[in-house]
Amino acid sequence: MNTNLNYMKFNTKAIHGGQQHEPATGAVMPPVFQTSTFAQTSPGVHSGYEYSRAANPTRTALENALASIENGARGLAFSSGLAATDCVMKLLKPNDEVIAMDDLYGGTYRMFSRIYSHFGIKFHFVDMNDLDKFKSLFNENTKLVWVETPTNPLMKLADIEAIAAICKEKQVLFAVDNTFATPYLQQPLNMGADIVMHSATKYLGGHSDVIAGALVAKTEELGEKLHFAQFATGATLGPQDSYLVLRGIKTLHLRMQRHCENGQKVAEYLEQHPAVGKVFYPGLESHPYNSIAKKQMKGGFGGMVTFTFKSGKKEDSIAFLERVKVFTLAESLGGVESLANHPALMTHASIPEENRKALGITDDMVRLSVGVEDIDDLIADLEQAFNA
Ligand SMILES: *Cc1c(COP(=O)(O)O)cnc(C)c1O
Repeated sequence: MNTNLNYMKFNTKAIHGGQQHEPATGAVMPPVFQTSTFAQTSPGVHSGYEYSRAANPTRTALENALASIENGARGLAFSSGLAATDCVMKLLKPNDEVIAMDDLYGGTYRMFSRIYSHFGIKFHFVDMNDLDKFKSLFNENTKLVWVETPTNPLMKLADIEAIAAICKEKQVLFAVDNTFATPYLQQPLNMGADIVMHSATKYLGGHSDVIAGALVAKTEELGEKLHFAQFATGATLGPQDSYLVLRGIKTLHLRMQRHCENGQKVAEYLEQHPAVGKVFYPGLESHPYNSIAKKQMKGGFGGMVTFTFKSGKKEDSIAFLERVKVFTLAESLGGVESLANHPALMTHASIPEENRKALGITDDMVRLSVGVEDIDDLIADLEQAFNA
Protein backbone atom coordinates (compact mmCIF):
# COMPACT_ATOMS: atom_id res chain seq x y z
CA MET A 1 0.00 0.00 0.00
CA ASN A 2 1.41 3.35 -1.05
CA THR A 3 1.54 5.83 1.85
CA ASN A 4 0.94 9.01 -0.09
CA LEU A 5 -2.25 8.61 -2.07
CA ASN A 6 -3.35 12.21 -1.83
CA TYR A 7 -5.56 11.93 -4.88
CA MET A 8 -7.88 9.59 -2.97
CA LYS A 9 -11.34 10.69 -1.95
CA PHE A 10 -12.07 11.29 1.73
CA ASN A 11 -13.83 7.99 2.43
CA THR A 12 -10.82 6.07 1.11
CA LYS A 13 -8.32 8.30 2.92
CA ALA A 14 -10.12 7.70 6.24
CA ILE A 15 -9.22 4.02 5.87
CA HIS A 16 -5.95 3.97 3.91
CA GLY A 17 -4.51 7.50 4.07
CA GLY A 18 -0.84 7.41 5.10
CA GLN A 19 -1.08 3.71 6.03
CA GLN A 20 1.29 0.83 5.26
CA HIS A 21 1.05 -2.82 6.12
CA GLU A 22 3.51 -3.54 8.93
CA PRO A 23 6.70 -4.56 7.06
CA ALA A 24 7.90 -7.41 9.32
CA THR A 25 4.66 -9.45 9.40
CA GLY A 26 2.24 -7.84 6.96
CA ALA A 27 -0.13 -7.00 9.84
CA VAL A 28 -2.95 -4.95 8.30
CA MET A 29 -3.38 -2.80 11.41
CA PRO A 30 -0.21 -1.40 13.00
CA PRO A 31 0.75 -3.30 16.15
CA VAL A 32 0.63 -1.37 19.42
CA PHE A 33 4.37 -0.74 19.77
CA GLN A 34 4.34 -0.67 23.57
CA THR A 35 7.99 0.28 23.91
CA SER A 36 9.86 3.32 25.19
CA THR A 37 13.11 2.68 23.29
CA PHE A 38 14.51 1.02 20.16
CA ALA A 39 17.74 -1.00 19.68
CA GLN A 40 20.56 0.58 17.68
CA THR A 41 23.14 -1.44 15.71
CA SER A 42 25.93 1.11 16.24
CA PRO A 43 25.77 4.39 18.19
CA GLY A 44 23.37 6.67 16.32
CA VAL A 45 22.53 3.97 13.73
CA HIS A 46 18.87 2.96 14.03
CA SER A 47 15.65 2.17 12.18
CA GLY A 48 14.39 5.76 12.35
CA TYR A 49 13.02 5.24 15.86
CA GLU A 50 15.12 5.98 18.97
CA TYR A 51 12.86 6.90 21.87
CA SER A 52 9.06 7.03 21.89
CA ARG A 53 8.75 10.68 22.96
CA ALA A 54 10.37 11.61 19.63
CA ALA A 55 8.45 9.04 17.58
CA ASN A 56 6.70 5.70 18.02
CA PRO A 57 5.52 3.59 15.03
CA THR A 58 1.90 3.32 16.24
CA ARG A 59 1.76 7.07 16.77
CA THR A 60 3.40 7.62 13.37
CA ALA A 61 0.64 5.56 11.72
CA LEU A 62 -1.98 7.77 13.40
CA GLU A 63 -0.08 10.97 12.55
CA ASN A 64 0.10 9.99 8.88
CA ALA A 65 -3.65 9.30 8.89
CA LEU A 66 -4.30 12.73 10.47
CA ALA A 67 -2.20 14.50 7.83
CA SER A 68 -4.03 12.60 5.08
CA ILE A 69 -7.62 13.32 6.20
CA GLU A 70 -6.92 17.03 6.83
CA ASN A 71 -4.86 17.32 3.64
CA GLY A 72 -1.78 18.65 5.46
CA ALA A 73 1.96 17.97 5.30
CA ARG A 74 2.40 16.74 8.87
CA GLY A 75 0.18 15.31 11.62
CA LEU A 76 1.04 15.24 15.32
CA ALA A 77 -0.76 13.32 18.06
CA PHE A 78 -0.99 14.63 21.64
CA SER A 79 -2.12 13.38 25.04
CA SER A 80 -5.20 15.67 24.87
CA GLY A 81 -6.78 18.36 22.74
CA LEU A 82 -5.53 21.02 25.14
CA ALA A 83 -1.98 19.62 24.88
CA ALA A 84 -2.24 20.14 21.11
CA THR A 85 -3.36 23.77 21.59
CA ASP A 86 -0.60 24.24 24.17
CA CYS A 87 1.98 23.14 21.57
CA VAL A 88 0.84 25.86 19.14
CA MET A 89 1.25 28.47 21.91
CA LYS A 90 4.88 27.37 22.28
CA LEU A 91 5.61 28.91 18.87
CA LEU A 92 5.08 32.32 20.55
CA LYS A 93 7.32 34.60 22.60
CA PRO A 94 6.65 37.33 25.20
CA ASN A 95 5.04 40.48 23.68
CA ASP A 96 3.49 38.44 20.86
CA GLU A 97 -0.24 38.99 20.40
CA VAL A 98 -3.03 36.56 19.57
CA ILE A 99 -6.46 37.37 18.13
CA ALA A 100 -9.01 34.73 19.12
CA MET A 101 -12.69 34.21 18.69
CA ASP A 102 -14.81 35.47 21.61
CA ASP A 103 -16.76 32.19 21.90
CA LEU A 104 -14.05 29.58 22.48
CA TYR A 105 -14.05 26.16 24.10
CA GLY A 106 -13.82 26.97 27.84
CA GLY A 107 -10.53 25.11 28.31
CA THR A 108 -8.92 27.04 25.46
CA TYR A 109 -10.07 30.35 26.94
CA ARG A 110 -8.78 29.27 30.36
CA MET A 111 -5.35 28.37 28.91
CA PHE A 112 -5.06 31.67 27.04
CA SER A 113 -6.34 33.94 29.80
CA ARG A 114 -4.97 32.21 32.91
CA ILE A 115 -1.73 30.56 31.77
CA TYR A 116 -0.25 32.23 28.68
CA SER A 117 -1.29 35.78 29.59
CA HIS A 118 1.16 35.37 32.51
CA PHE A 119 3.98 34.70 30.04
CA GLY A 120 3.67 38.12 28.46
CA ILE A 121 1.44 37.10 25.56
CA LYS A 122 -1.47 39.41 24.88
CA PHE A 123 -4.89 38.10 23.80
CA HIS A 124 -7.70 39.90 22.00
CA PHE A 125 -11.09 38.16 21.99
CA VAL A 126 -13.37 39.29 19.18
CA ASP A 127 -16.55 38.41 17.32
CA MET A 128 -15.04 37.01 14.11
CA ASN A 129 -18.14 37.95 12.15
CA ASP A 130 -17.21 41.61 12.62
CA LEU A 131 -14.32 41.53 10.13
CA ASP A 132 -13.63 45.28 10.42
CA LYS A 133 -13.21 45.00 14.18
CA PHE A 134 -11.08 41.89 13.66
CA LYS A 135 -8.82 43.69 11.16
CA SER A 136 -8.40 46.67 13.49
CA LEU A 137 -6.76 44.44 16.13
CA PHE A 138 -3.69 43.54 14.03
CA ASN A 139 -0.36 45.20 14.73
CA GLU A 140 3.32 44.26 14.23
CA ASN A 141 3.20 41.99 17.32
CA THR A 142 0.27 39.90 16.06
CA LYS A 143 1.52 36.34 15.48
CA LEU A 144 -1.50 34.03 15.68
CA VAL A 145 -5.23 33.98 14.94
CA TRP A 146 -7.27 31.26 16.67
CA VAL A 147 -10.77 30.28 15.52
CA GLU A 148 -13.26 27.58 16.41
CA THR A 149 -16.21 26.88 14.10
CA PRO A 150 -18.91 25.80 14.87
CA THR A 151 -18.66 26.80 18.55
CA ASN A 152 -19.90 25.16 21.70
CA PRO A 153 -22.78 25.31 22.69
CA LEU A 154 -24.20 28.15 20.54
CA MET A 155 -23.06 26.80 17.15
CA LYS A 156 -21.71 30.17 16.01
CA LEU A 157 -19.75 30.02 12.78
CA ALA A 158 -16.78 31.96 11.43
CA ASP A 159 -16.02 32.35 7.73
CA ILE A 160 -12.72 30.46 7.39
CA GLU A 161 -11.91 31.68 3.86
CA ALA A 162 -12.53 35.35 4.71
CA ILE A 163 -10.39 35.14 7.87
CA ALA A 164 -7.65 33.21 6.03
CA ALA A 165 -7.44 35.94 3.36
CA ILE A 166 -6.88 38.60 6.04
CA CYS A 167 -4.28 36.46 7.86
CA LYS A 168 -2.45 35.87 4.58
CA GLU A 169 -2.37 39.59 3.82
CA LYS A 170 -1.03 40.32 7.33
CA GLN A 171 1.31 37.27 7.24
CA VAL A 172 -0.01 35.90 10.53
CA LEU A 173 -0.45 32.20 11.39
CA PHE A 174 -4.05 31.02 11.31
CA ALA A 175 -5.17 28.02 13.40
CA VAL A 176 -8.63 26.42 13.38
CA ASP A 177 -10.07 24.13 16.06
CA ASN A 178 -11.93 21.68 13.78
CA THR A 179 -13.23 19.41 16.56
CA PHE A 180 -16.96 19.94 15.96
CA ALA A 181 -16.98 19.74 12.16
CA THR A 182 -14.21 17.14 11.57
CA PRO A 183 -12.46 16.96 8.18
CA TYR A 184 -15.42 14.95 6.86
CA LEU A 185 -17.45 18.19 6.81
CA GLN A 186 -14.84 20.94 6.72
CA GLN A 187 -11.16 21.06 5.71
CA PRO A 188 -9.66 24.36 6.95
CA LEU A 189 -6.23 23.81 5.36
CA ASN A 190 -7.92 23.73 1.94
CA MET A 191 -9.55 27.07 2.81
CA GLY A 192 -6.28 28.83 3.71
CA ALA A 193 -5.62 27.94 7.37
CA ASP A 194 -2.07 26.98 8.44
CA ILE A 195 -2.84 24.68 11.37
CA VAL A 196 -5.81 22.48 12.25
CA MET A 197 -6.31 21.41 15.86
CA HIS A 198 -8.56 18.61 17.17
CA SER A 199 -9.75 17.25 20.41
CA ALA A 200 -9.45 13.68 19.06
CA THR A 201 -11.31 12.72 22.24
CA LYS A 202 -14.47 13.64 20.34
CA TYR A 203 -15.40 12.60 16.76
CA LEU A 204 -11.98 11.35 15.57
CA GLY A 205 -11.78 8.79 18.39
CA GLY A 206 -15.55 8.56 18.24
CA HIS A 207 -16.17 5.97 20.96
CA SER A 208 -15.79 7.93 24.22
CA ASP A 209 -12.87 5.73 25.27
CA VAL A 210 -9.78 7.92 24.93
CA ILE A 211 -8.46 11.45 25.66
CA ALA A 212 -6.32 12.62 22.73
CA GLY A 213 -5.42 15.66 20.65
CA ALA A 214 -4.09 16.41 17.20
CA LEU A 215 -2.44 19.09 15.11
CA VAL A 216 -2.07 19.06 11.35
CA ALA A 217 0.29 21.56 9.71
CA LYS A 218 -0.14 22.72 6.15
CA THR A 219 3.59 22.81 5.43
CA GLU A 220 6.48 20.52 6.29
CA GLU A 221 8.38 23.50 7.76
CA LEU A 222 5.61 24.43 10.20
CA GLY A 223 5.10 20.73 11.01
CA GLU A 224 8.78 20.47 11.93
CA LYS A 225 8.56 23.50 14.27
CA LEU A 226 5.52 22.01 15.99
CA HIS A 227 7.16 18.60 16.26
CA PHE A 228 10.20 20.23 17.86
CA ALA A 229 7.96 21.92 20.47
CA GLN A 230 6.11 18.65 21.10
CA PHE A 231 9.34 16.63 21.43
CA ALA A 232 10.98 19.30 23.60
CA THR A 233 8.07 19.53 26.03
CA GLY A 234 6.66 16.01 25.89
CA ALA A 235 2.83 15.81 25.70
CA THR A 236 2.78 12.94 23.19
CA LEU A 237 0.05 10.32 22.78
CA GLY A 238 0.86 6.78 23.98
CA PRO A 239 0.80 3.82 21.56
CA GLN A 240 -2.40 2.23 22.93
CA ASP A 241 -4.33 5.49 22.68
CA SER A 242 -2.82 6.18 19.24
CA TYR A 243 -4.18 2.81 18.12
CA LEU A 244 -7.67 3.65 19.43
CA VAL A 245 -7.81 7.00 17.60
CA LEU A 246 -6.52 5.41 14.37
CA ARG A 247 -9.20 2.72 14.67
CA GLY A 248 -11.80 5.45 15.20
CA ILE A 249 -10.72 7.38 12.09
CA LYS A 250 -11.37 4.31 9.91
CA THR A 251 -15.12 4.75 10.42
CA LEU A 252 -15.19 8.55 10.71
CA HIS A 253 -16.99 9.01 7.37
CA LEU A 254 -19.65 6.41 8.22
CA ARG A 255 -20.26 7.79 11.69
CA MET A 256 -20.35 11.41 10.55
CA GLN A 257 -22.89 10.63 7.85
CA ARG A 258 -25.26 9.22 10.49
CA HIS A 259 -24.44 11.94 13.06
CA CYS A 260 -25.45 14.51 10.43
CA GLU A 261 -28.67 12.72 9.42
CA ASN A 262 -29.71 12.23 13.05
CA GLY A 263 -28.59 15.74 14.06
CA GLN A 264 -30.66 17.35 11.31
CA LYS A 265 -33.77 15.28 12.21
CA VAL A 266 -33.44 15.99 15.94
CA ALA A 267 -33.03 19.74 15.21
CA GLU A 268 -36.13 19.73 12.98
CA TYR A 269 -38.11 17.78 15.58
CA LEU A 270 -37.12 20.25 18.31
CA GLU A 271 -37.89 23.27 16.14
CA GLN A 272 -41.56 22.26 15.84
CA HIS A 273 -41.96 21.14 19.49
CA PRO A 274 -44.32 23.41 21.49
CA ALA A 275 -42.15 23.26 24.66
CA VAL A 276 -39.00 24.38 22.83
CA GLY A 277 -37.81 27.99 22.63
CA LYS A 278 -34.76 28.36 20.36
CA VAL A 279 -32.86 25.65 18.46
CA PHE A 280 -29.20 26.17 17.55
CA TYR A 281 -28.12 23.95 14.63
CA PRO A 282 -26.12 25.13 11.58
CA GLY A 283 -28.29 23.03 9.24
CA LEU A 284 -31.55 24.88 10.08
CA GLU A 285 -32.64 27.66 7.70
CA SER A 286 -33.50 29.65 10.84
CA HIS A 287 -29.89 29.49 12.10
CA PRO A 288 -28.19 32.91 11.80
CA TYR A 289 -25.05 31.31 10.36
CA ASN A 290 -26.83 28.93 7.95
CA SER A 291 -25.36 30.63 4.85
CA ILE A 292 -21.74 30.34 6.11
CA ALA A 293 -22.48 26.74 7.09
CA LYS A 294 -23.71 25.94 3.57
CA LYS A 295 -20.63 27.59 2.08
CA GLN A 296 -17.94 25.86 4.13
CA MET A 297 -19.43 22.63 5.54
CA LYS A 298 -19.90 19.87 2.98
CA GLY A 299 -22.12 16.83 3.36
CA GLY A 300 -24.05 17.88 6.46
CA PHE A 301 -23.89 19.97 9.62
CA GLY A 302 -22.78 17.58 12.36
CA GLY A 303 -24.37 16.00 15.39
CA MET A 304 -24.37 18.85 17.92
CA VAL A 305 -27.75 20.44 18.66
CA THR A 306 -28.52 23.00 21.38
CA PHE A 307 -31.96 24.20 22.48
CA THR A 308 -33.77 26.23 25.12
CA PHE A 309 -37.24 25.94 26.67
CA LYS A 310 -40.10 28.24 25.73
CA SER A 311 -40.80 28.65 29.47
CA GLY A 312 -37.21 29.91 29.97
CA LYS A 313 -37.14 27.86 33.20
CA LYS A 314 -33.99 26.19 34.47
CA GLU A 315 -36.16 23.60 36.29
CA ASP A 316 -37.66 22.47 32.97
CA SER A 317 -34.23 21.76 31.51
CA ILE A 318 -33.14 19.90 34.65
CA ALA A 319 -36.31 17.79 34.75
CA PHE A 320 -35.89 16.99 31.04
CA LEU A 321 -32.28 15.89 31.58
CA GLU A 322 -33.26 13.69 34.53
CA ARG A 323 -35.80 11.89 32.34
CA VAL A 324 -33.83 11.07 29.18
CA LYS A 325 -33.01 7.36 28.89
CA VAL A 326 -31.34 6.70 25.52
CA PHE A 327 -29.42 9.98 25.81
CA THR A 328 -26.91 9.78 28.68
CA LEU A 329 -26.53 12.84 30.90
CA ALA A 330 -22.77 13.45 30.63
CA GLU A 331 -20.12 15.93 29.52
CA SER A 332 -18.13 15.43 26.30
CA LEU A 333 -19.43 14.73 22.80
CA GLY A 334 -18.71 13.09 19.47
CA GLY A 335 -19.07 9.43 20.48
CA VAL A 336 -21.40 6.86 18.89
CA GLU A 337 -23.77 7.15 21.87
CA SER A 338 -26.06 10.14 22.32
CA LEU A 339 -25.24 12.44 25.24
CA ALA A 340 -27.12 15.34 26.81
CA ASN A 341 -25.53 18.15 28.80
CA HIS A 342 -26.59 21.25 30.75
CA PRO A 343 -23.95 23.85 29.72
CA ALA A 344 -24.62 26.33 32.54
CA LEU A 345 -24.35 23.66 35.25
CA MET A 346 -21.82 21.31 33.63
CA THR A 347 -19.41 22.10 30.75
CA HIS A 348 -19.59 25.90 31.10
CA ALA A 349 -20.05 26.17 34.89
CA SER A 350 -16.55 27.67 35.28
CA ILE A 351 -17.53 30.70 33.17
CA PRO A 352 -18.83 33.48 35.47
CA GLU A 353 -22.63 33.89 35.28
CA GLU A 354 -22.54 37.39 33.75
CA ASN A 355 -20.11 36.23 31.01
CA ARG A 356 -22.40 33.27 30.26
CA LYS A 357 -25.36 35.64 30.02
CA ALA A 358 -23.42 37.99 27.72
CA LEU A 359 -22.53 35.08 25.42
CA GLY A 360 -26.13 33.87 25.41
CA ILE A 361 -25.67 30.66 27.41
CA THR A 362 -28.90 30.61 29.41
CA ASP A 363 -29.91 28.48 32.41
CA ASP A 364 -32.65 26.69 30.43
CA MET A 365 -30.22 25.53 27.74
CA VAL A 366 -29.63 21.87 26.84
CA ARG A 367 -26.86 20.66 24.51
CA LEU A 368 -27.24 17.33 22.73
CA SER A 369 -24.48 15.27 21.13
CA VAL A 370 -26.66 13.25 18.80
CA GLY A 371 -25.21 9.77 18.34
CA VAL A 372 -25.66 7.11 15.67
CA GLU A 373 -28.52 5.13 17.22
CA ASP A 374 -31.83 4.63 15.37
CA ILE A 375 -33.46 8.03 14.90
CA ASP A 376 -36.89 6.69 15.94
CA ASP A 377 -35.55 5.71 19.36
CA LEU A 378 -33.82 9.07 19.80
CA ILE A 379 -36.96 11.08 18.96
CA ALA A 380 -39.12 8.79 21.13
CA ASP A 381 -36.72 9.35 24.03
CA LEU A 382 -36.86 13.14 23.67
CA GLU A 383 -40.65 12.97 23.34
CA GLN A 384 -41.09 10.99 26.58
CA ALA A 385 -38.70 13.35 28.39
CA PHE A 386 -40.81 16.37 27.29
CA ASN A 387 -44.11 14.66 28.13
CA ALA A 388 -43.43 13.10 31.52
C1 LIG B 1 -13.04 18.94 24.15
C2 LIG B 1 -12.60 20.09 23.34
C3 LIG B 1 -11.30 20.61 23.46
C4 LIG B 1 -10.31 20.09 24.47
O1 LIG B 1 -9.92 18.79 24.18
P1 LIG B 1 -9.48 17.72 25.32
O2 LIG B 1 -9.24 16.48 24.50
O3 LIG B 1 -10.60 17.62 26.29
O4 LIG B 1 -8.23 18.26 25.94
C5 LIG B 1 -10.95 21.67 22.63
N1 LIG B 1 -11.82 22.20 21.74
C6 LIG B 1 -13.06 21.71 21.60
C7 LIG B 1 -13.98 22.33 20.60
C8 LIG B 1 -13.50 20.65 22.40
O5 LIG B 1 -14.76 20.20 22.27
